[in-house]
Amino acid sequence: MTRDNLRAFGDQLRGDLIRPGDAEYDDARAVWNGMIDRLPAAIARCAGTDDVLATVAYARDNALPLTVRGGGHNVSGSAVSDDGVVIDLSRMDAVHVDAARRRVVAGGGATIGDVDRVAQEFGLAVPLGLVSKTGIAGLTLGGGLGWLRRAYGASCDNLVAADVVTATGERLHASETENPELLWGLRGGGGGLGVVTSFEFRAYPVPPQVSFALVFHPWHDAKAALQHYREWADTAPDDVSSFAILWHAPAIDEIPGEYHHQPVVVYAAVHCGDRAEARSDLSPLRDFGNPIADLSDAVPYAEVQQLFDEDYPAHIMRYYWKSLYLTGLDDAALETMRSLNEISPSPHSTLDVWQLGGAFCRVAPDESAFGDRSAPFLLGIEANWEDPADDEANIAWARRVHEAMSRFSTGAEYLNFPGFFEDGEQSLLRKSVGANYARLSDLKGKYDPQGLFALRGGFS
Ligand SMILES: Cc1cc2nc3c(=O)[nH]c(=O)nc-3n(C[C@H](O)[C@H](O)[C@H](O)COP(=O)(O)OP(=O)(O)OC[C@H]3O[C@@H](n4cnc5c(N)ncnc54)[C@H](O)[C@@H]3O)c2cc1C
Repeated sequence: MTRDNLRAFGDQLRGDLIRPGDAEYDDARAVWNGMIDRLPAAIARCAGTDDVLATVAYARDNALPLTVRGGGHNVSGSAVSDDGVVIDLSRMDAVHVDAARRRVVAGGGATIGDVDRVAQEFGLAVPLGLVSKTGIAGLTLGGGLGWLRRAYGASCDNLVAADVVTATGERLHASETENPELLWGLRGGGGGLGVVTSFEFRAYPVPPQVSFALVFHPWHDAKAALQHYREWADTAPDDVSSFAILWHAPAIDEIPGEYHHQPVVVYAAVHCGDRAEARSDLSPLRDFGNPIADLSDAVPYAEVQQLFDEDYPAHIMRYYWKSLYLTGLDDAALETMRSLNEISPSPHSTLDVWQLGGAFCRVAPDESAFGDRSAPFLLGIEANWEDPADDEANIAWARRVHEAMSRFSTGAEYLNFPGFFEDGEQSLLRKSVGANYARLSDLKGKYDPQGLFALRGGFS
């Protein structure tokens, strides 16, 4: 890379080329996780596929590390690298709905909120994640689990087509009939096969308001509350997707002051079906024990998708997330989680038990790159904290939980909660996609033989 060829490259773009020293540089290089502080050589804020093609060619021809930024929300900061070139898709965020066919097409830089907003105008929803600022790209390429996972599957299960720019500069359309093997790989294989400039999803009608349950239990009832959740989750209908969360109560008016910042067990669930059925399906969660707060309500779908946004502020907080698929929730597993939540160094951290099953588990392991769906629960280990001085303690806590809970796991992990890829990109990929690893590696060899696109991006 020389000053002259960088200038010539910038002149070629319809979008912006942002370089060190430019006024927007610090904002453009910042990603969601406040721990990440990387200094790319250039950020191409692409205006369209032509800009993506030009940037791929520039990085390839100058042997520069290349990363892709969808929503910038990967906890590992894989969207940016030191001294590399970033393809920033944030301007490519248009969303179009074909209501008659129940299809939604979204640009590679769209966020969940962008899709929800437009799809909801037609009474439709795409199964995406829980926090509206997250990018649909990284989410879908790694799987995509949200409030509709048990009713309609993961985001990647509802990806019906994609437009891709490959490392060699080809523009490919992937669908069931055109490059179907590429589509298979994009469904949960983690990306790394090219830049997806647009995603086409199946969408589903959701009622104007969905039923949301949010119930806080005091810590002295934690064991019974978790056991009750285990029994209920086993029989809950597919219209419900839920969590049991081990957390520390936030200091909000609805929770009595003596519980603020104290450990709690929280039930959180969304029912996307009929309101009367929802009332009875969710009543076991609402009627159990003596909760300290029940914030359940009927909520517009787009609103439920934003309820946790403020718990995950961008740039200012520090995050380290890992995961394990659990074989079940026996008493020893519950007790291990209970004791580890008590010693979490940060009140913002959580242990999230994601209820799986339903439509999510009815996809065969080889049907998409995502892999095996048989685990009944996913444990999300979220270390979330504020002070850089606490980095070591919080990362150590998350790793300790991961190690202690491993004996209750299938051995598989969720690609979208990758820690810092510290055990190696291929090791995590192998654990995530399981028996699909060899088939995915063949695809990588076909579409990105030089390894231009790394899953872990620029982490060093
Ligand atoms: C606050 C928060 C909430 C979350 N909630 C959920 C949730 O509810 N469910 C869930 O399943 N996950 C959830 N996640 C995890 C999330 O799915 C991943 O962090 C995901 O990588 C975010 O996608 P992104 O586009 O924002 O990421 P980015 O950091 O922009 O990208 C991540 C990686 O994806 C690849 N990539 C991005 N865009 C493209 C593209 N267009 N083409 C090719 N490759 C691309 C790149 O390799 C990049 O390194 C959450 C994360 C956060 C931070």
